[in-house]
Amino acid sequence: AKKIKKNNYLYYNQKMIEQLKRRKKIKNKLQNALKNNGFSLKYQPQINLKTGQADFLEALLRLKDNSFSPGEFIPVAEESGLIIEIGRWVTKAAIKQLALIKNQYQAEITISINFSAKQIRDHGYLDFLKKNLKKYKIAAHYLEIEITESILIEDNKAITFINQLKNIGVQIALDDFGTGYSSFSYLSYLKTDKVKLDKFLADNFMAADKIDTLINLINLLHSLDLPVVAEGVETKEQYLQLKAHNCDYIQGYYFSKPLAKDQIKAILAKNYLN
Ligand code: C2E
Ligand code: CA
Ligand code: CA
Ligand code: CA
Repeated sequence: AKKIKKNNYLYYNQKMIEQLKRRKKIKNKLQNALKNNGFSLKYQPQINLKTGQADFLEALLRLKDNSFSPGEFIPVAEESGLIIEIGRWVTKAAIKQLALIKNQYQAEITISINFSAKQIRDHGYLDFLKKNLKKYKIAAHYLEIEITESILIEDNKAITFINQLKNIGVQIALDDFGTGYSSFSYLSYLKTDKVKLDKFLADNFMAADKIDTLINLINLLHSLDLPVVAEGVETKEQYLQLKAHNCDYIQGYYFSKPLAKDQIKAILAKNYLN
């Protein structure tokens, strides 16, 4: 028995070493990408179910060489602190894209960017944001910042930070709602502009015995004047049910995968309900 225990120990140690190596490799990738223009953004439309238009585009970060997915590299970026610089890159890239949309297509759309709880530690962020909005002549409300509840756990300055963002005029969306703590009391002092229901809800609350929970949730959010986005919608059945229960926006593969920036013109012209 002693021998097995020892082997187990070596086995887990080996696993840990592999994990550390992998993290180190990802960290190097991220540092390189920051230096050598190795990041890009993909854009996924959020469809307004009343009009069929994409009113919002969520910007999703990619490594150009696709060597690692965001699910793999974002946690490393957060642990290593690189998320601060990466978060600024994403912010600036989104603002530049807004300027292109405005100047080339004479169109209007809001771009949503993801904001990690760790970015609260970026004390210069608010100035950086204001400076770039001004430089590219973009009104703040064309930018939306997606936060998750974890931001409240990360730092007690979160509410102040979010209020400062709101004062600049950017929109705030609460992401991944329905996972984690989802304390409704948060909603009363978080002052978000919209709520994004996690894919988990679209996947697990459509069944006949659970749909009432989803309906109640949507109604409750509406009673707080919060528009509701359902994320990760993949099927026509999900779409039809969510529409029937007054969900406001849908984002998911059913309408569109995240697309490269050269597809934005086509997204803007399209009516997704036709
Ligand atoms: P998220 O913010 O919840 O983004 C939604 C994720 O679901 C995206 O994955 C998107 O591609 C995917 N998705 C959208 N529709 C569907 C669908 O119908 N089916 C399925 N299976 N998936 C769908 P992605 O792009 O891999 O990003 C994963 C996560 O990485 C994001 O989750 C977000 O938490 C994080 N992330 C991505 N870009 C950034 C960024 O610029 N900054 C930060 N801090 N985090 C980011
Ligand atoms: Ca998001
Ligand atoms: Ca989400
Ligand atoms: Ca997420």
